[in-house]
Amino acid sequence: MSESANEKHAFQAEVSRLLHMMINSVYSEREIFLRELISNASDACDKLRYLAITDPSLQSGGDSFRIDITLDKQARLITIADNGVGMSHDELIENLGTIAHSGTGKFVDQLTGDASADIDLIGQFGVGFYSAFMVAEHVDVLSRRAGSAEAWLWQSGGTGEFELSQAEKTAPGTEIRLHIREDDDEFLDAMRLRQVINAYSDHVAHPIYLHIADDTDADAEAEQKPVNAGSALWTRPKNEITDEQYKEFYHTVGHMFDDPWATIHYRAEGKIEFTVLLFIPSMPPMDLFDPARQNRLRLYVRRVFITEEAQLLPPWLRFVRGVVDSADMPLNISREMLQNNPMVARIRKALTNRILTELKKKAEKDPEGFAQFWRNFGAVIKEGLYEDTERGEELLKLSRFATSKSEDTLRSLDDYLADMPDTQTAIYYIAGESQAAIKRSPQLEGFVARDIEVLLLSDPVDDFWLTTHRTYEGKPFKSITQGDADLQELPKKSDSDDTENAQDAAAEGDMAVLIALCKQALGDAVSDVRGSNRLTESAVCLVASESGIDMNLERILARQNQDAGLPKTARILELNPSHPMIGALAEKARTGGAVDQLEEAAHLLLDQARILEGEPLDDPAAFAKRMAAMVTRAISPA
Ligand code: ADP
Repeated sequence: MSESANEKHAFQAEVSRLLHMMINSVYSEREIFLRELISNASDACDKLRYLAITDPSLQSGGDSFRIDITLDKQARLITIADNGVGMSHDELIENLGTIAHSGTGKFVDQLTGDASADIDLIGQFGVGFYSAFMVAEHVDVLSRRAGSAEAWLWQSGGTGEFELSQAEKTAPGTEIRLHIREDDDEFLDAMRLRQVINAYSDHVAHPIYLHIADDTDADAEAEQKPVNAGSALWTRPKNEITDEQYKEFYHTVGHMFDDPWATIHYRAEGKIEFTVLLFIPSMPPMDLFDPARQNRLRLYVRRVFITEEAQLLPPWLRFVRGVVDSADMPLNISREMLQNNPMVARIRKALTNRILTELKKKAEKDPEGFAQFWRNFGAVIKEGLYEDTERGEELLKLSRFATSKSEDTLRSLDDYLADMPDTQTAIYYIAGESQAAIKRSPQLEGFVARDIEVLLLSDPVDDFWLTTHRTYEGKPFKSITQGDADLQELPKKSDSDDTENAQDAAAEGDMAVLIALCKQALGDAVSDVRGSNRLTESAVCLVASESGIDMNLERILARQNQDAGLPKTARILELNPSHPMIGALAEKARTGGAVDQLEEAAHLLLDQARILEGEPLDDPAAFAKRMAAMVTRAISPA
């Protein structure tokens, strides 16, 4: 390529949207751009330090790593330079023209285009390099990849496209020049800039130097001194670290914008030695449900950054952020060697134990805070019930649930057991797609009428852990949409003298003919038809057979297999003997009336039950026809 050639590249559409928002944003904490750029510079130094372990020639200059920030007020220019790994031609295009993290991608999807509504989002999620455009009308990135002699200049005004041209740079690394916007004089003030750098940089592990161009008062000696302490925060004693420092470290290392809900900092000594600084976020990160289920814990070996991909935590703790610094691993451990490494496995086990201990403590000391934590991350932890079966009891004890008696305050299984009547033998639950849908389920009616608490499970993972954990403290979990309801022993709360229960039993006895008739009319479409004691208001419902699979799980599996068809297993149709319509039909069946019409009614009952389940009908046209015939008959003069 000739030296003078300028390549023009369009930003990926999502980046354009993001930049549009950055440029038009009225976000008050624009200073975060500096934290993002310093954090990138520090990461670039970490990356080169790691690469140079196996290829020392990459850092042949022998320079120690540093970050230099220069302010040139006259030229309205702030420069952030590092001597880290740098970027090649292709990396500049890939890294600064597209969106790499799925988290950022999701963030962009949430943008409304309305600047004021989008502001809050900026505060919640990191937007990395692109935040430079909040203060700069033009950004130049001059970069030379370590190991290469070529340098490239990336330039953009943030609208639509960027330009790349070949350039000169004496040493590897990256220099980012921000041409500060007319109305952003704030950051051209040396005092202000120093204050921002101080706030964000103290725990950055590489020294940061601040230079003020043309500053007659500049103290040459002061410029020789880094503005930050430059020591790795996790190596300092706990009592010397302020909450504010922990928080800033979390923001930078975790690329997070909320405050940590819990901070865990300790040193493990014994067979293996490592230092740990972990944070549990107070808000769910954007990539929480990313299918890769990667955790982002950073592994260091004696303060040298190795990788973010060492699987130091099980996937069900992937929301935890922070650093693990091992004293025992070899420095030149490759990322491949880390896979199935026994030391990593031991650290993972130790961290998991420690986090669970911390969670238990929090649950006891701060139940409300813990409930909020559970709302954020419970669905992820419950993946552990399924995957880490030996931790089952421990995780079940921590788990919190919305129940039919308490939707707003979450309940533990211990709460549930403590309040359950002696006559109750199982822990009842209903699983479905959403709390709202479950609450409307007809199958709940009989339980609510008897004041029996039912767990309302609406996370998809619930159906899966329930296949591996069938009991808690010796009590079986029992789906109220499967098998017999076993409610005979439990009286309804409204009726202490048992008259209603007795009436129910009598009505059920009267239903034999109707039930036989329904079975015959419906054939293989149902596995059984029977009277129900789980209904009070509704006329009908469907349940799965005791030995089969629960209806919600069957629906989830059908969806996962992209099977558009109906669930394959025939259900049990239950009829409510005390419902007037069922009563009338039973009466008609007993007295030998119009069999054709009763058969039609049987089909309508089944379709009604399917609609209540939110399931599609086998034959909607037949349903409509039967319905029309039935209504016509009902309103026509006899
Ligand atoms: P993130 O830092 O979250 O990955 P950014 O948008 O800030 O997202 O940066 C995108 C990528 O650009 C980084 O992952 C890194 O590979 C590269 N990058 C950014 N700044 C630098 C730098 N100073 N030196 C080398 N690479 C950089």
